[in-house]
Amino acid sequence: MSQLKVEVRSIPPMHELLEHPSFGSLQQHRTYTEAKQLLKNCVDQVRAQLLQDVWEGALPSTDPRQFIDELYQLVLQQASEQTPTTLYRVVNGTGTVLHTNFGRARLSEHVMDHVTHIATSYSNLEYDVDKGERGSRTQHVEKLLCSLTGAEAALVVNNNAASVYFVLNCFAKGKEVVVSRGELVEIGGSFRVSSIMEESGALLREVGTTNRTHVKDYAEVIREETAMLMKVHTSNFKTIGFTKSVSVDELVQCKRDTPHVLVYEDVGSGVLYDYRAHGIGDEPTVAEAVKAGCDLVSFSGDKLLGGVQAGFIVGKREYIDQLKRHQLARVLRVDKLTLAATEATLRLWASDENDQLHIPTHQMLLATQAELQKRVEAFADRLLHKAPQLGFNVTAEACTSRVGGGTMPDVELPSYALALAVSDVNSWVTALRKRALPVIGRVYQDRLLFDFRTISKDEEVLLLEALLEV
Ligand SMILES: *Cc1c(COP(=O)(O)O)cnc(C)c1O
Repeated sequence: MSQLKVEVRSIPPMHELLEHPSFGSLQQHRTYTEAKQLLKNCVDQVRAQLLQDVWEGALPSTDPRQFIDELYQLVLQQASEQTPTTLYRVVNGTGTVLHTNFGRARLSEHVMDHVTHIATSYSNLEYDVDKGERGSRTQHVEKLLCSLTGAEAALVVNNNAASVYFVLNCFAKGKEVVVSRGELVEIGGSFRVSSIMEESGALLREVGTTNRTHVKDYAEVIREETAMLMKVHTSNFKTIGFTKSVSVDELVQCKRDTPHVLVYEDVGSGVLYDYRAHGIGDEPTVAEAVKAGCDLVSFSGDKLLGGVQAGFIVGKREYIDQLKRHQLARVLRVDKLTLAATEATLRLWASDENDQLHIPTHQMLLATQAELQKRVEAFADRLLHKAPQLGFNVTAEACTSRVGGGTMPDVELPSYALALAVSDVNSWVTALRKRALPVIGRVYQDRLLFDFRTISKDEEVLLLEALLEV
């Protein structure tokens, strides 16, 4: 520490230190807040040492610019003494918002504050404070789920694959479930409707054809052994051309005279916000499925809902109560971290448009091409300013982003990217991927693109550092 010398009053202010490219390295295995704290601790130590030196009559010896570099060497050395974790951040420049390989939805600090608060203290997780007795852990999110979807009751399980398994096992074990052949989908390689159904003990009764299914196809097979008519959202593909599928309304009409048959829809993504109003996709909201008369509806927590991994089941109270009493409810129950993150996320959805933008997935999906263009252009200027002799062309150019996570497969969001016309694209891709902090871009027409839709403002410094290093 004592070799670091400069006049105390020329220690640069924090905002200037945060601009330094080395700040990116600090964020490799820690959050922005942690990195900032580490830097601040170091500056405090140095300042204390300098005051001590001045007190003892020693003179400053370095110029302030060199001082910053030396200061960062010290911070990085202290940081490197901590062992890196195997699970760490990557910078996602692919433009795919819900990238399954990169952990699907990002969470906001806003949500994480609540998680930290609940996780680091005791809580009323299963305690009814009014009565002073045992309470239910689902109560914390059930009301919110009901008010956001219009359902009578709700339940949370581990993920949506678990929701599907649970509903089928509870209501259709040893009985028949009618599904259209056009909806027997496979999602993400590890979720196949037919396989989950087999595991659950329900008997699959396929109807219709791949491209066309009619109400009469369902009506013809309903009998005593039929437990439910199931609809599965074909999240990750689209059938176009000569097609026909049956709506929930029609299914509800169809089973009118056979009250023992349930109508269940697995809507997949769990849209609480009408993206159609922004011209993004044609995904119906969960509330629409509930309103159409479904007895049960299930969806994911970490797709378009923008929260943590979870499966939500909403619907008529008598059926949700039956699920809650089932042994599997205990097997599939979620942790307090999931409940805390879910409550905080759902509260944001339940508030106004501005608060909803605290949900990173939502904010990224709504980011306009013009606003992304501005950021890319400013970044390109900054890069060229730092490294005027790059030796290749850097441009800001229009591109398209994807939603990802097996949702809205046909939607292309107009976006903006930083494009590098480097001579050996593949070696750049590898070098950027193999860093301690991987930066993943997209190769397009022999150029390397970084789509700014999925790179947040505070990650720009990480990208800058990576590019200067490679
Ligand atoms: C994604 C998806 C699932 C699986 O959900 P997870 O939360 O990933 O388990 C099930 N059904 C549909 C229709 C989906 O789109």
